[in-house]
Amino acid sequence: MAKVIIVGAGFGGIAAAVALRDHDVTLLEAAPELGGTWFHNTYPGAACDVPSHLYSFSFAQRKDWTRLCSPQEEILDYMRGVARDQGIAERVVCNARVTACAYDEARHVWTVTCEDGSKRDADAVVIATGQLHQPAYPRLAGRDAFAGHQFHSAEWDHGYDLTGKSVAVVGTGASAVQFAPEIAPQVGRLHVFQRSGNWFLARRNRPYPAWYRWLVRTIPGLQAYRRRFIFNYGESLTAMIRHPRTLGLIGRARSAALMRWQLRDPEVRRKAWPDYTFGCKRVLFSSYWLPMLQRPNVELITEAVAGLTADGVTTEDGTHRRVDCIIWATGFRTNDFMLPMEVRGAGGVTLADYWGGAPRAHLGITVPGFPSLFLMYGPNTNTSGGSIIAYEEAQAAYVRQAIELGVVEVLPEVAEASDRETQARFAGTAWTQCDSWYRKDHDGRIVANWPGYMREYLQRTAVFDPSQYRVVKTDNARAVAPGHD
Ligand code: NAP
Repeated sequence: MAKVIIVGAGFGGIAAAVALRDHDVTLLEAAPELGGTWFHNTYPGAACDVPSHLYSFSFAQRKDWTRLCSPQEEILDYMRGVARDQGIAERVVCNARVTACAYDEARHVWTVTCEDGSKRDADAVVIATGQLHQPAYPRLAGRDAFAGHQFHSAEWDHGYDLTGKSVAVVGTGASAVQFAPEIAPQVGRLHVFQRSGNWFLARRNRPYPAWYRWLVRTIPGLQAYRRRFIFNYGESLTAMIRHPRTLGLIGRARSAALMRWQLRDPEVRRKAWPDYTFGCKRVLFSSYWLPMLQRPNVELITEAVAGLTADGVTTEDGTHRRVDCIIWATGFRTNDFMLPMEVRGAGGVTLADYWGGAPRAHLGITVPGFPSLFLMYGPNTNTSGGSIIAYEEAQAAYVRQAIELGVVEVLPEVAEASDRETQARFAGTAWTQCDSWYRKDHDGRIVANWPGYMREYLQRTAVFDPSQYRVVKTDNARAVAPGHD
């Protein structure tokens, strides 16, 4: 039995803990509760945008989802239920913010340090802190000068009453598209600051009718069929992104038809229209965003934000808009991965130094020089068309096989070849045709996304190949000094 520390108790951490539950597993979670993204992101309208029949664990399928894409509370409730039913909940230590993980080559042991100074030893460490957890704020002149209220979409201030207020929303990505239509009827004025337009596909997400829920509950196999159908739909989106000059044109045409139909105001249509290839940035699913932009109390602003003053936002054309509140929907510091935590591997080399601004890992999971360190949802494992939970389950099963072999370290030539292949596979895809959070490394490499289909990733990770690894030590058991916790 290996002693394993998992950092983060979101979907990735829970997936790893379930796969490794026969080992001595502890999950360290910085937040007061498990849930990760679904604990933190509580903004109005927060919901998954991959349908819940797929956006859920294969081993914990539910037939009673209330909507196509479940709201945040329902997902968090599901995660709590899975953790309880799988015996994971009692292994989660909350309010435990990890600041450092360091590998001791002599003992083959990782020491994990928390903010409060406590230290724990482990045979293996699984880092499951996700790609989207550190809110990003633009560097703007006068950011501190603003005297009104401000918060990030991932840190929603439910104590602040938006009723009747003049509100600025900066950013128009997947988060803004979910919350802005919810608050638009409540606020006095909504100023939407857009840097790039987006491609949209329809999503109403009304509650499932009772008859539908009855059918799913009653007809054997219907729920599994829905899951497979959504899986294949996701793969078809990936195909459009992989082939922008052929299949991508179908996606573009579908999106353009919806957008033309919804954007009746020619001025708003001109401003909201994206100027990049379909699928390059995340395609957004909403039937409500574009109509919202045409509400009388909403203004879409495409001039760049130049700075803030005490009472509002100034754009580069010199226009000043007075606002009571700014909501930053500007996304996350996505290329930092698990930083600011310091991860120190063999020879004292830090992961940040090893990466040198270009995060990479074999299958997104293992890194040379970091024996028995495993990443969940690591570099190049994000998906634009599928469910990240499917990737995380595959990673968890792979990690279990690795840990059962002993202390293992991926061979540098394997990791380098896999990185070269991953990067080469982006050639000609839509992802390369604009700037996005998927590619924010120093030389424009795509560091977030997997370049292929979900099924390929699941196949490649299904069987752990020991020939790609150096087995540092064949037995994980009792590398950790007894009594040293
Ligand atoms: P995001 O997609 O990174 O969007 C950030 C937005 O802020 C973009 O519109 C970006 O414009 C804009 N922005 C950034 N800096 C700016 C600046 N200085 N001035 C003006 N605009 C600026 O962030 P997000 O919406 O929080 O979503 C992040 C990811 O989280 C998504 O891609 C998705 O994977 C996930 N997510 C999923 C769900 C879901 O499943 N339901 C919901 C929310 C988020 P540019 O486009 O020009 O960069």
